[in-house]
Amino acid sequence: METIVNRLECAAIIFDFDGTLADSMPFLESIGVQVMRKYYDVSKEDATEKYRSTTGLPYEQQIKLNFPNNPKNDEAIEEFEKFKINRIFEQELFSDTEQTLQEVQLMDIDIFVSSSTFQSTIVEYFKRKGLLEYFVEVLGYRPGFEKGADHFEYVSKKYEIAVDELVFVGDSLKDYERSIGYCDFIAVSRMFSEEQFRKMGHEGPVVHELAAVPEHLERT
Ligand SMILES: [Mg+2]
Repeated sequence: METIVNRLECAAIIFDFDGTLADSMPFLESIGVQVMRKYYDVSKEDATEKYRSTTGLPYEQQIKLNFPNNPKNDEAIEEFEKFKINRIFEQELFSDTEQTLQEVQLMDIDIFVSSSTFQSTIVEYFKRKGLLEYFVEVLGYRPGFEKGADHFEYVSKKYEIAVDELVFVGDSLKDYERSIGYCDFIAVSRMFSEEQFRKMGHEGPVVHELAAVPEHLERT
């Protein structure tokens, strides 16, 4: 007998990038923490907590939330971005990323990326991995155009897809927060446990690998 899964009706899927499609979180956390320790005299534990509690946001915002109005902020942000661009292309995809994109594409669901990383960085990353063709459009961060509402509304308007026919897939609690009131969300539990997503109020699917995403979708 077939297991009955409540599938999410969708016409387009939007994936977060870091920690969802690309296995970049250990690297980003290590440089994020390193920069905080260098500029703000915080312990490793404190910096890790500050990094994790704001992860999913652009680093610029992570710094400004944790160290409001600190004169060192601009320099710290610049140093993080420099470290990141130097080594982001060495970070691997997850082993099931390509297979998952393939399956979703075969379902005739449009695929997008919405990320707090700069758009040009993500486009270059997928070019080098040979995966850029899977995406209708890759949306990255610039001030005033962020992962979440800005990107969801842009996709909805430009491609004439109702916001409630979008499904957002992300690995951070902030990703879930940003889907509230907009679209369905699939949590990828890696950095955060299923329990942490549930505590935030997420009632939809929680998966432990990307390969489990397609079985939660139904093309409208
Ligand atoms: Mg992420």
